[in-house]
Formats: sequence, C-alpha cells, structure tokens
Amino acid sequence: MKKITLLLLLLSSFSFYAQSTSEINIVNETVKKNTIKKQIFYLASDDLKGRETGSPEIDTAAHYIAKTFKNLGVKPINGSYYQNVPLTKNKKAKSVKLVFNEQPQKELILLKGKDMSYNKGVVILDYGLESEYSTKDVKGKVVICKTGTPEKSDFRSAYTAIAQKQHLAAKYGAIALIEIANYQNKVWQLLKNNLGKEKVQLAKAKDNNTPIAHLWVLNKDIDLQNNNLKQVNLEVNGAQTEKITSKNVVGILEGSDPILKNEFVIYSAHYDHIGIGKPNQENDSIYNGARDNAVGVVTVLSAAENLAKYPTKRSALFILFTAEEKGLIGSKYYTQNPLVPMNKVVFCFNSDGGGYNDKTKTTIIGLKRTTAQKHIEQASKAFGLEAIGDPVPEQNLFDRSDNVHFAKAGIPAPTYSPGMTAFDEEILKYYHQAADNPETLDYDYLELFFKSYVLSARLIANDPEKPFWLKGDKYYEAGEKLYNK
Ligand SMILES: [Zn+2]
Repeated sequence: MKKITLLLLLLSSFSFYAQSTSEINIVNETVKKNTIKKQIFYLASDDLKGRETGSPEIDTAAHYIAKTFKNLGVKPINGSYYQNVPLTKNKKAKSVKLVFNEQPQKELILLKGKDMSYNKGVVILDYGLESEYSTKDVKGKVVICKTGTPEKSDFRSAYTAIAQKQHLAAKYGAIALIEIANYQNKVWQLLKNNLGKEKVQLAKAKDNNTPIAHLWVLNKDIDLQNNNLKQVNLEVNGAQTEKITSKNVVGILEGSDPILKNEFVIYSAHYDHIGIGKPNQENDSIYNGARDNAVGVVTVLSAAENLAKYPTKRSALFILFTAEEKGLIGSKYYTQNPLVPMNKVVFCFNSDGGGYNDKTKTTIIGLKRTTAQKHIEQASKAFGLEAIGDPVPEQNLFDRSDNVHFAKAGIPAPTYSPGMTAFDEEILKYYHQAADNPETLDYDYLELFFKSYVLSARLIANDPEKPFWLKGDKYYEAGEKLYNK
C-alpha cells in the first residue's frame, strides 16, 4: 500500500514536472525580447505624444494594437476590435476674469466652465452645504463660500467635496460657485496644475444639463464672515463641452477544452497615458508613458501571441482600456457594457504599473487575495523572479486601477506590475514624468517579467479549478453573488 502511494506520488510529481516544463517551453518559444522592445518603443514613441485620451495619437495606438491582434490571429468581437466609449471633454476656457470689490483676482482655478458675464452682488455662504441654502435666495446669483467642510479644510477633503457643492449650487439655481481657498503657495501650484486641466468624463444619457461655472480662488485676505465682499465681476469665455469617442481595444481567442472554453480569463491593461505636459529640465514635454502603461499593454500582447499559438483550456478575452488616467473610465464603461457575460469571466489579470525598483521581483497588487496566488508565484519562480504582494497597502493601490471595476462585480482581479518594493525615488523619477521613456527600461528584466505573466496566465487558464477570492476578502461576497455560489 505504502509503496503504491509512493509510486503514485512520484509519478504524479513527475508528470507535474513534465507538464510545467513543457508550459515553460511554450512560453519561451513565443516571448522574445526583440518583439517586446519593438512594441514598447512604438507605443512610447514621441510620435504617439503620450497617448492622451481624446488626442488623435491615442487612436493611432488603438489601431496599432488592433492590427497586432489581427496579425496574431486574435479574433474581433461582433466584427470589431473596438468598443466605442462615449466621452465628454470640458475644454479649458480661453479667458477667465474675476474681480472682487474692484480687485482683480489672479490665482484662479476654473473647475467647471460655462461662458458667462456677471457684474452684481453676491450671496455669501459658509461652506456651501445644503443647510446653508435654506435661508438664502441664490437664484441667478454668484455664490461664494470657503473650500472644504467645517470638519475638514485640507485640500484632499476640499477636492472630494467639489462635486456635491457644485450639485447643490446648481440645484438652488445659482449661476456660479466660487470657493475661497487658503492654502500654502506650493500646495496651490500643485492644485492648479492638476485641477485646471481639461476634464474628460463618461458621457451620460442626458448630458444637456449645462454645468454652472465653478472656481477656486486663492485669497488669504478676504473675510467672508465680515462680509467685506459686496461686488463681483466674473467673466468666462470660450469654455466648451465637446463630445468625443474613444476606444477600448478588444479581442478574443477560443479555449481548447470543450467545456472550459465557455469560461473566460480577461487579460487587460490601459493603453492611454497623460499626453503632453510641462517640460522637464531636459526640455522634454512628451510624457511617453513607457512604464505607465506601454509595459502593461505589451504584457497583454505577449499573452495574446502565446495563446494564439498555444490556446489554453479556457477562452481568452483581451481588453486594452482607454481613459484610465482620466479616472478609470474605459474599464468602468466596459463593466457597464460587457461584451461577454460577466459571470462567464472567472478571472481578470490586469497589468498596470508606474515602474520598478527591484529587478528580482514581480509585484502583484492583490497577490494574496485570490487562489491564483500559487500559480503566479510558481510562474515568477520559473523565471528566477519572486512574486510579492502589495508593498504599500496604505495607498490602497488595488482600488486605484482598472481591475477594481471587475473586483467590485465579483471577478477575482489582481494587478500585475514590475518589481516594486516601495514608492521610493527610483519610482518617482519616472512615475507620471516626462522621463518615462522607452530607452530607460531594462529589456532583459522585462523579458523575464513578461514570461512570468504569460506562464501565470497559462497556469490559471488551464487549471480545472476556478480561481476565486480568499474567504474574508472584501469582494468575496460580490463573487458569490456573481457566480451564484
Ligand atoms: Zn498612470
């Protein structure tokens, strides 16, 4: 009896060994440094100008990805490699003029624009909360209040309160809302750079409600309580809301197993980046986004090439998202308008990252939250790398990338990233910087990194056992609900 057990054990471990070596060989056969390099250099080239959502260049990138799919034999869905994502773009106003009591205000951020000209008295509120509106008539007037809330005045809380305050001002009939900010100059500059930009949003079914004008003004001298502000002159010109269409790029490969092929694994990454911005010291103004996220796109393309040649038992759905940098919009739209029923998708293997500081590792945000952990760890090990989990849990990276929309729906969805052990200087040197160029990457490391991803993909998509959330995870229940467990 014992002998037989031992023999069986030996046999099964041998066949496991043989099976995994053949899987490794399959990965080695298709994932090649030169291909990877070529693809990253193209996606992160100056020609594509940083692939900003709404630019013509991001469509060039979409076309390139679709063409690559076609060449590899990846199939379109409903006859197309594109899922159109309807967006609105609020164009920055050409000019904004604001005068308080005959004093021109210079430090302005136009959060939301609507062309207007106003030269009358104002209604002063405290923080612009709902209770404050009940005693004041703001119809057709400009409302002025402080940023933030009585509890929290820091800029993050103030930012979080923007949408609600705007909603209230519009609801009570104000024509503009001006919030007085009182921040250190350094903080203010940062806010100006980030909030003053054009805004891209998912188009809503009824987009005819024109926004009111909403501004932040840096003014440390004004005393709203003593009501020394009587007269406001506000002029906004050239603000526009434009409708645009961007694209998620999609493709599909059928699985090889007659039953498991009805289940899908998603391989996803965002292909947009932040476009052209402030020039750096080298006078480079193109934010090429090699790490963020040409690398992620190419992990997906590497999987596509491999699975097209050697299909896994489960089917594969590839999605490259638009507008991640505008607020995870492409992925949100996809999960609201899925092309394959969500409950047929057993796993979403997203790839996103800001760079690496440890070339002996792969970093998987959410590694220890699903039963796929063993496969991902084994795959990294096969190429001499160590898979590690979230290095900065306090930043809650899991909920800050495209994977979160799938996780919320219940689909186990970690994010695969290059080796990062901390948010240190090496990461910040490139993260959302013009310096994130393709020639600064180590392609020997990336080759191993991509191979680990593709092998993980194969192990997960071939495992008869479905991956799932670990018990106690915050998305466990959503998963039970989605799959009717
Ligand atoms: Zn980014």
